[in-house]
Amino acid sequence: MKVLILGVNGFIGSHLTERILRDTSWEIYGMDLASNKVAEYLDHPRFTFVEGDISISKEWIEYHVKKCDVVLPLVAIATPKIYVTDPLRVFELDFEENLRIIRQCVKYKKRVIFPSTSEVYGMCDDEAFDEETSNLVTGPIPMQRWIYSTSKQLLDRVIWAYGAKEDLRFTLFRPFNWMGPRLDSLNTAKEGSSRLVTQFCWNLFNGEPLNLVDGGHARRCFCDVEDAMDGLMAVLRNEGGKADGRIFNIGNPENDRSVREIAEMMIALWKNHPLRLERGIPEGTMVETHSGTFYGKGYQDVQRRTPSIRRMQETFGFDPKIGIEASLKKAMDFFVDEHKALEKVVETE
Ligand code: UDP
Repeated sequence: MKVLILGVNGFIGSHLTERILRDTSWEIYGMDLASNKVAEYLDHPRFTFVEGDISISKEWIEYHVKKCDVVLPLVAIATPKIYVTDPLRVFELDFEENLRIIRQCVKYKKRVIFPSTSEVYGMCDDEAFDEETSNLVTGPIPMQRWIYSTSKQLLDRVIWAYGAKEDLRFTLFRPFNWMGPRLDSLNTAKEGSSRLVTQFCWNLFNGEPLNLVDGGHARRCFCDVEDAMDGLMAVLRNEGGKADGRIFNIGNPENDRSVREIAEMMIALWKNHPLRLERGIPEGTMVETHSGTFYGKGYQDVQRRTPSIRRMQETFGFDPKIGIEASLKKAMDFFVDEHKALEKVVETE
């Protein structure tokens, strides 16, 4: 099978590349702006990488949509800070650029696996969010945070409609706070625009307090990227066509924690971390911050976000097992290594 991955150097793309090359005989054609996260596979005989921007390299993309069997358009901005500071860029990239690719999949009759998002459920009241019955609840227009959720939601609906009207073969998957190495780069954390775990790592390394936005009461279910990949690979394998025309939440409802609890766990891990002890960096503290100050105007938080994974369990026997502590430790160790590498670059410059 030939797989086209746009955004192959991202968090999901790079982990998926690793899995596909390790566990299958499939070929990957990948495009991204850079290749640092897939550097170790560049010489692999079943991996073809091209450096490019999906809004520019249109011919390469169309040619490869035609050539491949399945398309994963993973290019998107998925960081809440940017939803508020640059909403139009989110719309243009996440919606407009991806719509073009979806239409090519329709034209060439290719299977598409599209990353929807847990963010589409927004402030839904359900205890656990269900793919086919939960309402998708977003805030008013001045709250620009919702541009990501609604851009993705509209594409979900467009893909669904193409499935019904034009026989597009598709699966939508919804990641629920996947976590692990390569989630965000420390450079984005430096600017304060990273997701929670990376942001906290950066703060700890630099002896800064961890910001608990609006008291840190919001809850998330974190899913280790290795568990998430088990789920996504099952979707890709699509045995018996069971993933066709379906939507699947991929997450771990067992790893439900508040932001404050995550901060406490990370501070506890950091306390005995060799890098901290070696360099005499402070132990880590927390400070409460107002969301308007931290994110700017237009931010509205999601208080809880719990997936129902019943459909993944029943269809594929999905069974995420990795606990939150092990996951946090892995993510922290990865960022420590990245931090050290970054320091080396600065030293040599
Ligand atoms: N958050 C926080 N401090 C930070 C970064 C994030 O309290 O330094 C909170 C944020 O307000 C939200 C949660 O952590 O309640 C998760 O944010 P993240 O950026 O990881 O993405 P989300 O799950 O909201 O898409």
